[in-house]
Amino acid sequence: MFDMKKMGPYPQFYQADDNGQLMVFGRSVRSIVDEIGTTPLFIYSRECLTQKMSELRSAMPNNLDIHYAMKANSFKPVLEHMRDLVDGFDLASGGEMDLAIAAGVNPEFMSFAGPGKRDSELEKAIAAGVTLNVESPNEADRMIAIAARLGIKAKAALRVNPSFDLKGSGMKMGGGAKQFGMDEDLIAPTAKRIIESGNLWKGFHIYAGSQSLSADAIIETQRQTFALADTLSQEIGSSPERINLGGGFGIPYFPKEEALDIAKVGAALDAQMSNLPEALKNTKFCIELGRYLVGEAGIYVTNIVDRKMSHGETFLVVDGGLHHQLAASGNFGTVIRRNYPIAAVNDYESSGQYDEYDSEIVTIVGCLCTPLDMLGDKVLLPKLAVGDLVSLFCAGAYGASASPLNFLGHGQAAEIMI
Ligand SMILES: *Cc1c(COP(=O)(O)O)cnc(C)c1O
Repeated sequence: MFDMKKMGPYPQFYQADDNGQLMVFGRSVRSIVDEIGTTPLFIYSRECLTQKMSELRSAMPNNLDIHYAMKANSFKPVLEHMRDLVDGFDLASGGEMDLAIAAGVNPEFMSFAGPGKRDSELEKAIAAGVTLNVESPNEADRMIAIAARLGIKAKAALRVNPSFDLKGSGMKMGGGAKQFGMDEDLIAPTAKRIIESGNLWKGFHIYAGSQSLSADAIIETQRQTFALADTLSQEIGSSPERINLGGGFGIPYFPKEEALDIAKVGAALDAQMSNLPEALKNTKFCIELGRYLVGEAGIYVTNIVDRKMSHGETFLVVDGGLHHQLAASGNFGTVIRRNYPIAAVNDYESSGQYDEYDSEIVTIVGCLCTPLDMLGDKVLLPKLAVGDLVSLFCAGAYGASASPLNFLGHGQAAEIMI
């Protein structure tokens, strides 16, 4: 067992039935797969989404809005369910705007961020009443011109590239030279130009990073965000109606990672919001989260197609792979590869547990003809055979929506919401 590699922790929401088989919120995963009749299959659970959201709401201040960053998962039933749970949707393209509208989201509650918005996207957003998170002075000028042509007042928040970042975050979106937002010194002149042009200046969007599991790091970033918003508001000479504080709440994917302490983050945020500087007294605050809301609510179920040995190691080849699970496979080899949580559907109970008679170390690979297509490297699982199902966890975010679907032509995975 010396060459075993650990995997990340199994998320809450998943249990074993009396026979040890994997269930999600009391429903057998095997029977869901049999019912749908196809693998690979993404299964998302409404109950998981609802529970995650209600845990978050109870930890956060009452008057804090929670937005969903839909690029994490834009499957229509997920959008429709999130629509009724959150206070707003954050989009990052005209295409996402179409999906959100098709899912019945009111454009009033949408904000649109992203560098390089085309004129056609700006026009569509302005016409629909979507708030633009303006990313550059040039974009502000184009927005003003388009709004004038349409005879509609554009709603504009300014995206700030803060001089700080979210410490220890998986992906830094601020601090130094970045393609996102505007450097702090460009904010006041741009806000003034928008106000003078007769359009509606709404406030700020300050997003410093993603995938953090450190409450202290998030709290520190939020403290800096409030201070920055105060300074910028004074420079502009006007109070912002809304401030998007960003997000960055992570989920554990890998060994030794632990869940973010949201109670601690919520308490600190509550203290901040109870003690606001004069310029922010009447401001409404929101956070925007993607993976935290949907990541753990999804699993990716594959079927074992082949079982083979090579140089003494056992490989299980499944019918899915990195074309649906780029991040779990290790992002094209650019990072040190670590294992997402993965389990046998017919024996969740013993997955990841050592048993002298039943467990073995296996490498789970996908069906793509590249050595990068690996879903579990030397993981400890009960003995499995061709036809058994394997479940990969934390598949609700950046799985189907963020993988190279066309790579090697195996096609899409089915997705269902239960
Ligand atoms: C991607 C993104 C998010 C969501 O990030 P998660 O890590 O999924 O929470 C939020 N806001 C902005 C601006 C983003 O680009």
